[in-house]
Amino acid sequence: MVIDFRSDTVTKPTKGMLQAMQTAQVGDDVFGEDPSINELEKRIAEMFGMEAALFCASGTMTNQIAIKCHTQPGDEIICDESAHVYQYEGGGISFNSNASVKLLVGDKGRINSLQVEAAINPDDVHKAHTSLVCLENTSNRGGGSCYDFEEIKKIGNVCKTHNLKFHLDGARIFNAIVAKNESPKQYGETFDSISVCLSKSLGCPVGSLLLGKNDFIKKARRIRKIFGGGMRQAGFLAAAGIYALQNNIDRLKEDHLHASQIADAIQKKNFVKYILPVETNIIIFELDDRYTAKEFVAKLKEKNVLSYAITTNRVRLVVHLDISKEMVEKTIDIINKL
Ligand SMILES: *Cc1c(COP(=O)(O)O)cnc(C)c1O
Repeated sequence: MVIDFRSDTVTKPTKGMLQAMQTAQVGDDVFGEDPSINELEKRIAEMFGMEAALFCASGTMTNQIAIKCHTQPGDEIICDESAHVYQYEGGGISFNSNASVKLLVGDKGRINSLQVEAAINPDDVHKAHTSLVCLENTSNRGGGSCYDFEEIKKIGNVCKTHNLKFHLDGARIFNAIVAKNESPKQYGETFDSISVCLSKSLGCPVGSLLLGKNDFIKKARRIRKIFGGGMRQAGFLAAAGIYALQNNIDRLKEDHLHASQIADAIQKKNFVKYILPVETNIIIFELDDRYTAKEFVAKLKEKNVLSYAITTNRVRLVVHLDISKEMVEKTIDIINKL
């Protein structure tokens, strides 16, 4: 048995999800005629109390479409230095939107309102026009850290005061919502746009949604087509998303519990220098000089446990739908014996 903690993207659809996919009603979505996609978009928009949503192929696409919609060439975006939109989207901010980025050094991926306010460029011909702030919740490189919602509101107020758009990369927003006992509507009220991944901890094979106001989503739909992301009978994928929204949100508590149990075992090892606080489903730890991250990942792999070296000395494990209680017990046993 291989236990795969490399990412929460490795999940395979369950029987129930596959059945929902097989029996989905579909049509041509570029014509707006796919009932399953229409239903998914309507459902998630209602969940977040936002006007509309757009089903896309990936979280990179939803983020990049949002950035394209919110900015003009030459504008500047504010985000944390570890943000997915900057680090892991192939330089898409410059490639797609001809925008520059002001990177802030946050606390485990979380920036604060004072930092944001200080990073806004003055109205000066020398300076790029600051137009957008992007947050990531939970923060991937922050070890699944969650924002304090009061801080998000403060940053939202700074955006309003300075006429900036406010985008949330919510690839794992449901992990934050479950961990902090929040509601999707809080987020819908606060952000101009939200990207939500179905293919991460919600267990879908493909798909992300972009949420926002009607006119924003209308523009986003046009950009999606230009990016080559207009899909046809993709309702089979949307049906997986509807199933996930109905069945796979509450259970995230289990993933969080499993992550903290594994983290407890890792913490006790004397070759572990530091472990980031485990708030959701991600475990990140730093090794001392006894192992490089690559060596440690190889050592776990010998025991059929897959993990990921995110830097030369940091390893990441991500818990997800396909990690059972038995797998967690086995992993803890393996770690204890290392
Ligand atoms: C995975 C992820 C995305 C989107 O990635 P895709 O693989 O393009 O779906 C965006 N933001 C964060 C924080 C992520 O972890």
